[in-house]
Amino acid sequence: MTASLPSMITAIQNTINSNADEVAELDRAIGDGDHVVNLQRGLNALITLSDELDKLDWSAAFMKIGMTLMSTMGGASGSLFGSLFVSMAKAAKGKELDLTTFAEVFHQGVESVKQRGKADIGEKTMLDTLIPVANQLKQDMEKGVAFDEMLKNIKREAIKGMESTKEMIATKGRASFLGERAIGHIDAGARTSQLMICAIADVLLDSRLKPRE
Ligand code: ADP
Ligand code: MG
Repeated sequence: MTASLPSMITAIQNTINSNADEVAELDRAIGDGDHVVNLQRGLNALITLSDELDKLDWSAAFMKIGMTLMSTMGGASGSLFGSLFVSMAKAAKGKELDLTTFAEVFHQGVESVKQRGKADIGEKTMLDTLIPVANQLKQDMEKGVAFDEMLKNIKREAIKGMESTKEMIATKGRASFLGERAIGHIDAGARTSQLMICAIADVLLDSRLKPRE
């Protein structure tokens, strides 16, 4: 498999569809149950744009992805995933895509999710997956860690971050209404973020190519 943007979107859609029942169950337990359907709607919209996205530079592609997610997904996660990509698009504008730049751009995207959601690590949200991954990516870039090793580190951090939400109480989002009753359940957005990050890492590990190189 080549590491094109459409191949990554397809891999993401496959992993979300394969785990849809589990994610729906997670959001039913401490939310309103619609998270996976919201995400599937956004991903379907991206699939129909695959050819168009493949022709754009990375900044323009991220902008299109962000705007599409915002307008199709709905829910808290629609505006948050939308913000992630719109901010990444802005940070990437005019820059060459390489791993160092990508690490910075992703970091900026995650910062904008923090701002939009008024949330940080430890609040039982998607940020518990996204923040450790952004930090790991930056740290590995600075240390010059080999590409494959970096991807494995990112997968590990995503899984660890997702799992960490299980024992948290939520202070943001719908789960925050449940207080201690949210303990024992993984956050749905942390799980889908982890699934998506692992799917992208696997596409890259399979192709052993850097993005769009
Ligand atoms: P809604 O909560 O509106 O039904 P979704 O079900 O699509 O939206 O998404 C819920 C997910 O969004 C949660 O599992 C959580 O990861 C994430 N989330 C909700 N509120 C916030 C927030 N303020 N900051 C970061 N992430 C949030
Ligand atoms: Mg929901």
